[in-house]
Amino acid sequence: MKENPAMIVVMTLMFFSCHQQHNAAGAGEKVLHLNNIVDLTHTLTDKFPFIPVKELTYPFELIPMATLEENGVAANSWKIHEHLGTHIDAPNHFISGQLSVDEIDLRDLIVPVVVIDIEHKASINKDASVTLEDIGIFENRYGKIPAHSCVMMYSGWEKRLSDSTFVGLDKNRVKHYPGFSNEAINFLLKERDIAGIGVDVLSFDPGIDETYSGHKILFAAGKWGVECVANLDKIPKTGATIIVGAPKVGGATGGFSRIIAVW
Ligand SMILES: [Zn+2]
Repeated sequence: MKENPAMIVVMTLMFFSCHQQHNAAGAGEKVLHLNNIVDLTHTLTDKFPFIPVKELTYPFELIPMATLEENGVAANSWKIHEHLGTHIDAPNHFISGQLSVDEIDLRDLIVPVVVIDIEHKASINKDASVTLEDIGIFENRYGKIPAHSCVMMYSGWEKRLSDSTFVGLDKNRVKHYPGFSNEAINFLLKERDIAGIGVDVLSFDPGIDETYSGHKILFAAGKWGVECVANLDKIPKTGATIIVGAPKVGGATGGFSRIIAVW
């Protein structure tokens, strides 16, 4: 193809306008990098563990509703409760009048993520928690936790998903798995202005806290939590962004969510 001078001018202008748009992203615009994508979601099946609450909770079930053979269309119904599988907890899970899951602002569901690794101490003590000291050690190494982040605890519990130690019931039916201390949650809310927190275990309160005291602190501040998060050992400790695909169910207290990390 023979280029005439007019075409060269047009192409040059197009190049500069693209270049300027690109540069504009550096001046306060937010850029989402998609070079790496990791699914932080476990596949939900009828084997997935859950917090056993007598006469209340039950496993997930996929129940065929229509089949291609009989109906010409395939569809299932789900037997599920809101806190099963990789899921989000909305503030109204424990606090009356607080946000339901459909009311959480979208800007609060696409946020930077940091991962605090307590695998070593959790391997020694199943009741371990993320403490102020852990946050201090993390920040000394990786820098201050950015405002409006999700702070995740990585305890290595995912490796136990298919055995009974994931729930960790003892002979008195008390649960044992790690979580966040109340001091850490208070600090992250007041001093780091976080968007939410997350864990690779069933609940962000340690299993032994049957009053869910950390949930009440976090939800009173209108923030969310994500639980049973997968693959936290496969994303960087800082620098990634998570997209929390929370269900938009009116009035719900949470629900199964697709959580994706990108950087
Ligand atoms: Zn929950």
